[in-house]
Amino acid sequence: MLPPTTKDEVKRFLGMMGFYRRFIPRFSEVASCLYTLTKPKCTFMWSDKCQNAFTELNQKLIHSPILIYPDFESEFEIYTDASDNAIGAVLMQRLEELNYKIENYPGALNNLADQFSRPAQSQSEVSVNKLELGLDICWETEQEKDKEVAVVKQAVKNGDTKELVELENAAFWNSNKEYLFVQDNVLMLKNYQGENSIVVPKQLRNTICNLYHDEITAGHLSYEKTYRAIALRYYWPHMRTEIYDFCQSCDTCQRMKPMIQLDKRPLKLTKNGNTHFYLAIDYISKYCITGAKPRTTAEETIRMVRNRVNSEALIPVTFAYNNAVHVSMGFSPNQVIFCKVLSTPSDRKLQIEPNPEPKDREEIEEQVRDKIGKAQMKQKKQYDKNVRDKNSFNPGDLVMLINSRQKVGQVRSFTPKFIGPYEVIKSIGEVIHEFKQW
Ligand SMILES: [Zn+2]
Repeated sequence: MLPPTTKDEVKRFLGMMGFYRRFIPRFSEVASCLYTLTKPKCTFMWSDKCQNAFTELNQKLIHSPILIYPDFESEFEIYTDASDNAIGAVLMQRLEELNYKIENYPGALNNLADQFSRPAQSQSEVSVNKLELGLDICWETEQEKDKEVAVVKQAVKNGDTKELVELENAAFWNSNKEYLFVQDNVLMLKNYQGENSIVVPKQLRNTICNLYHDEITAGHLSYEKTYRAIALRYYWPHMRTEIYDFCQSCDTCQRMKPMIQLDKRPLKLTKNGNTHFYLAIDYISKYCITGAKPRTTAEETIRMVRNRVNSEALIPVTFAYNNAVHVSMGFSPNQVIFCKVLSTPSDRKLQIEPNPEPKDREEIEEQVRDKIGKAQMKQKKQYDKNVRDKNSFNPGDLVMLINSRQKVGQVRSFTPKFIGPYEVIKSIGEVIHEFKQW
């Protein structure tokens, strides 16, 4: 493989390596100089250190455990992808500990075959392949590993909740004790919607946050939406605070969160000749559909809405939106339309099926109307207050700066809104601060 010559090629290489990272010891340490190269502020300079890292990682690809002799007794799998001018394929075999399942894997995640199907400079769309990686989590064993959860489970099983007083989160367990129960030897809790949620042991809490915020079908949604997605399925002490911290410190969110000013320039003509981006939202359920079109005549628009309604689940971002619980409704658009919580790829990775029983449509609709009415009142109140938070910074604080350096030809929606982090050295006035690169 030739060394990358642009940032994009480095990114694609790292994307492909990411697929194998769990088999490469000290992966992040070895690849750190390559990750640095992909940062927006960093100019592309292929140093000896980068070359060494590149060579070392390439070597790993052609050695055990990544490249091994084929076992003709077990099944082979072929991953393919095609761009405008090349076809790529990877022949693979199941690894015992991985538990692969072929299903629904959006193209952008298929980094592996994608890397081989893209010649340099190619920017074409990636095709859709189907695959999914099960995490093979055994909730029963995992809960045993967390001493506190194990004690609570035993106490609930014995019907003797006196022991809970000794625990770190005694107040939490005590106030929830009537909702706790054990099912198939897994500690569960009946949540605020009356749904059964799994009590997550300490060691898996970060993984859960990751899967329901970072994954492509999770879509880096707001803290509130991430919290609600998780709370529909799981429970643990102080989960709100933990999820809040997780979302606040998410690097992608900090770079990409929208600024207040809106960019009103017309969109560029895409490869398929589309000039319009459409977003249609159902007034009641908030169910949304998205897409691109070359024209916006009434006829075209109606046809597009008709054709799209059932295929939205295939578009990760739209799925993320439709599956996220709306604060104003207390339900996700998918819950209102399909009367149940749709499983996400993350659910399948963790082998859980969130609340499979469909609910009564009329009941949901009634609750939605009620909630929307209340939310409108609340919004009005909030608007009337018209408060704006003032930011204050102290020396030593890390901050992100608004990225005003936009290059000619760059589409603003796709450039990071913030750059950094920078460290505050001192505050000169209320709004003027001196800072340095961190
Ligand atoms: Zn994020």
